Amino acid sequence: MQALREGITELDAVLLTHPHADHLHGIDDLRPLTYEKTIPVYGYKWVLTEVANRFDYIWAKRTQQGGGLPHLEIIPIDKKTLRKGMSIGNINIMPIPIVHGKLAILGWKFKEGEKRFVYITDVSRISFISFLKVMRCNVLVIGALRMSPHATHFSFGEALHFAKKIYRSPEGKKYLREVYLTHICHNHSHKEIENFCTAWMHKNNIKRLTISPAYDTMRIEL
Ligand SMILES: [Zn+2]
Ligand SMILES: [Zn+2]
Repeated sequence: MQALREGITELDAVLLTHPHADHLHGIDDLRPLTYEKTIPVYGYKWVLTEVANRFDYIWAKRTQQGGGLPHLEIIPIDKKTLRKGMSIGNINIMPIPIVHGKLAILGWKFKEGEKRFVYITDVSRISFISFLKVMRCNVLVIGALRMSPHATHFSFGEALHFAKKIYRSPEGKKYLREVYLTHICHNHSHKEIENFCTAWMHKNNIKRLTISPAYDTMRIEL
């Protein structure tokens, strides 16, 4: 529905974080976007194996060709891509290894010129190496489930604590402009979370930074 509303008729690639249903089960809706071309789907190998098992008809020889199969090419992230990233169009894309409970999953960093955007969701721990990759981003979207702690997700406080760590780079320069919380559960209203973010900024003496809950129809300018 979101893609229809926004008039999205083309996709360059699909980047998977992990194979939980809330992140994967829209895959059937990719089919009309693959009539003209094959879309590459990137992710960890174990994630793509899971995709191929759960949606096996996409790649199975036995599937009859009547309405046409989705043309998706699964491309596992290799060690070189983990180190150096990959290019899609003009954008350099870097996988960011993160931890989601007991699962090793991925966030993604997008870089075009000096513009850096990081998307991380379903995260409960971020290693120092991944922190270094995120450090100089301008806009951070980060998963934050609720006020109280959770075994597999950052709470609001944990997500903002991470944002604070990258607020000032080691050279003292401020790259981070905007932080948006995503993957929020239904325990709190949008207004309550906005108030929490504002109070948190005062308490931590953080200025010239937008921190707010993300919302549907939101657009981000880089
Ligand atoms: Zn998940
Ligand atoms: Zn999720």
